[in-house]
Amino acid sequence: MRSPRFAASVRIRQFDHKWTLPSRLADSPTVWFIEWNGLIVDARQLPPALQEEAVRKRLIPCVCEPKQRRFHEDSTTSLDAAAVPTQDRRMDKGIGIAGIAGRMGQLLAEEVAAAGAKLAGGIDRPGVTVAGTTLFPDIAALAAAAAVVLDFTHASTVAAHAQALAAAGTAWVLGTTGLSAADEAAVAAAARHVPVVYAPNFSTGVNLVLALAERMAAALPAEQYDAEIVEMHHRQKVDAPSGTAIGLGRAVAKGRGVVLEDVKESGRDGHTGARRTGAIGFAALRGGQVVGEHTLLFAAGTEHIAITHRAFDRRAFASGAVRAALWARGRPAGLYSMMDVLGIG
Ligand code: NAD
Repeated sequence: MRSPRFAASVRIRQFDHKWTLPSRLADSPTVWFIEWNGLIVDARQLPPALQEEAVRKRLIPCVCEPKQRRFHEDSTTSLDAAAVPTQDRRMDKGIGIAGIAGRMGQLLAEEVAAAGAKLAGGIDRPGVTVAGTTLFPDIAALAAAAAVVLDFTHASTVAAHAQALAAAGTAWVLGTTGLSAADEAAVAAAARHVPVVYAPNFSTGVNLVLALAERMAAALPAEQYDAEIVEMHHRQKVDAPSGTAIGLGRAVAKGRGVVLEDVKESGRDGHTGARRTGAIGFAALRGGQVVGEHTLLFAAGTEHIAITHRAFDRRAFASGAVRAALWARGRPAGLYSMMDVLGIG
């Protein structure tokens, strides 16, 4: 039944008959999402009658997690949106961008539009203007106006943003790099209240490399295979090693069952002595306009194995971050990675 007050169009894809749909979505270990008014809503938040209708009609939401992605053709139906709980209407608020005037911020705004999602507006430094976009005075105002905030600013903002987003109950997709241990603690604290997707690199390719790095490190004995991470970025980059390089180091350390800080060797210069067995080495190159290059090398006496990821366009990060934002809305509070978003965690 369509509500005259609030017509919601719900695009639903037909269920693949080879699968067994649970009789109640709430009983399913899988999280089912439904596209509602162009926004992704956790289907379990819908009233039971609407969930039952979807099950009865052998219809499932357009996005399902984690790995079941085979669908028949699109079909369109409608639900009585007046029956959708008020709290879900906050999804209408759209996506906010912190750092909207920056290199990433501008691309993120384009990617939000390309995804067909609503841009709630953004914030940037005082005095900055962005044509055609609502600029809010501060993070608290943006957090109140958005269902999720994409944050690509500067590490100095992290503690304040963590507090504001947790207080507003707004999901947070954090891409800013160069975080201190205290900043990371603030992120973890916010994640007790809201869903937080925090990733030093939102590209799909890098996250696949991260997953591979951990497996390789687990398989290659640290006494024989020296792990070195080399990265190169544009001349404006202010932190080194890059967040992605550190992420790669953490993945290798995890695979080896050690703590990165105990084995990290970076900035070698002068008489450094021989390489420590089991060390994870870092080297950072800066120059030109390189968007981001990372090589993970395992060097043994008998062979070298190197994996290189090159990003040619920041859009690789921006599109991944918008994907994370759509994924994060309606999730329970928690600290998530891009690997969780991609289902490869
Ligand atoms: P940028 O300098 O072009 O943009 C940063 C923007 O944030 C600027 O517009 C700046 O004015 C704004 N800003 C800074 N402090 C602010 C504050 N206190 N309040 C509001 N706005 C503020 O930088 P960028 O290349 O867009 O990168 C931004 C961040 O994202 C960096 O930390 C970078 O390393 C990181 N990054 C992460 C990924 C990823 O995939 N995780 C990818 C690219 C860049």
